[in-house]
Amino acid sequence: MIKRSLSDICEMVKGHGLHQAYNSSLISGVSIDTRTLSAGNLFIPIMRIDNGHNYVQKAFDKGAAAALWQRDQPNPPKGVPIIFVENTLTALQNLARTYRNQLNSKIIGVTGSNGKTTTKDMIFSIVSTTYKTQKTLGNYNGEYGLPLTLLELEEDTEVAILEMGMSNPGEIKLLSEIARPDIAMITMIGISHISTMGSREAIAKAKLEILTGLNPEGTFIYNGDEPLLNNELTKMKIPESLKIIRFGESADHHYYPVREEQSDEGVHFILNDREKYVIPMLGKHNVFNAIASIAAAKELKISLKNIKSGLQSIVITEMRMQRIKTKLGYTIINDAWNASPVSMKAAIQTMTELTGYKRKIVVLGDMLELGVNEAQYHKEMGQVIQYGLVDYVFTIGTLSEHISNQLYERFPSTHVKHFISSHELAHHIASVIKENDVILFKGSRGMKLEEVVNKLT
Ligand code: ATP
Ligand code: MG
Repeated sequence: MIKRSLSDICEMVKGHGLHQAYNSSLISGVSIDTRTLSAGNLFIPIMRIDNGHNYVQKAFDKGAAAALWQRDQPNPPKGVPIIFVENTLTALQNLARTYRNQLNSKIIGVTGSNGKTTTKDMIFSIVSTTYKTQKTLGNYNGEYGLPLTLLELEEDTEVAILEMGMSNPGEIKLLSEIARPDIAMITMIGISHISTMGSREAIAKAKLEILTGLNPEGTFIYNGDEPLLNNELTKMKIPESLKIIRFGESADHHYYPVREEQSDEGVHFILNDREKYVIPMLGKHNVFNAIASIAAAKELKISLKNIKSGLQSIVITEMRMQRIKTKLGYTIINDAWNASPVSMKAAIQTMTELTGYKRKIVVLGDMLELGVNEAQYHKEMGQVIQYGLVDYVFTIGTLSEHISNQLYERFPSTHVKHFISSHELAHHIASVIKENDVILFKGSRGMKLEEVVNKLT
């Protein structure tokens, strides 16, 4: 993590007003939250729902080495090391930007509508076989999370993998300019955040902002199956020195998978008709995430042997197609981190392809933040689910009732049921489920389906 003297910090955040007695004091690490602050940290009070300035005294009580203070805030504390700045969030970002420029690490930036965290975890698992590697923790991918992740990097980190998330245009541009990636990646374009973004074109354009800060001699890896990306790219001015790599379904791409097969071990596939891989995860979408990760690893000259072993030992952040074998002998697939039509379809598709289970049960919660057409998206989901490929469908939430409404005619009457309360849902599942069944949980973060999973496990 960052370790600097306060006079250095003052310069890096373009601050002023530090009493010269503190010039040579040291900080190590940065915190924006006194609940997780460690002694020696620089505390940066952020104005969010709560005003971080109310916690500055607490930060010093917990051993903060110094704090920033936004100039327009009244009553700064006296007799403690304080640096004044125009805006504390901008200061956090400036600090991260300057620190990154002082590091020799190679930075990989990962954006996309879905698959960012999974792909970041995969790349980490591969790259850490060969280099000193760090990655975004959990989902810390935004205007605070990305700078904080950069500030966590050790000076001798060789490769860092950073997730870049957005809900509005301009956000990825900012993150890319702060992180200045050497390798930038777009996993795919979906319709998450369509309510704020307006259209898929706008989403594609916003993800392409990742090119702004990309090293012109670096590499851009993107999902070549997405016409919007191909199309937008032709209209953009791309430095000739930039290497562009497409991955996806078609053999026209630089990287493509063939012959995917799901087994109990995970998914097996052959890359470019040549190299055999197995990933200990489910779902065709994860094959694409893996291929994008392999492409990045090859750019870093990681050996084939290490790529394969890295992929096999991947540790996935919770609730992404997480497979849990229960004591009662049935299997839960927890994919309830979030949901959009693309990822819900992918998860259901994966269920239909699984073998070795007796009955397949699908529990679907609402897909949130889909804007004015939200009901229609849920209806369409109902239309693609086929009886026989899955055996039971249970829905919960107001929107997902549109899914079950599509199914009553095509499924036996007891095989589709809509629920209002998660308590009743859990109770019903417990009465239906048997040994050797498999049950999928999929819904938006706000639906808290993991509570139902927890009740069952
Ligand atoms: P967030 O915006 O919440 O940070 P994310 O982009 O980090 O999401 P993940 O957490 O990796 O995405 O995955 C979330 C869900 O998206 C997964 O559980 C899976 O269902 C789906 N998903 C993952 N990768 C892909 C992909 N390449 N294509 C489509 N869906 C995917
Ligand atoms: Mg994520």
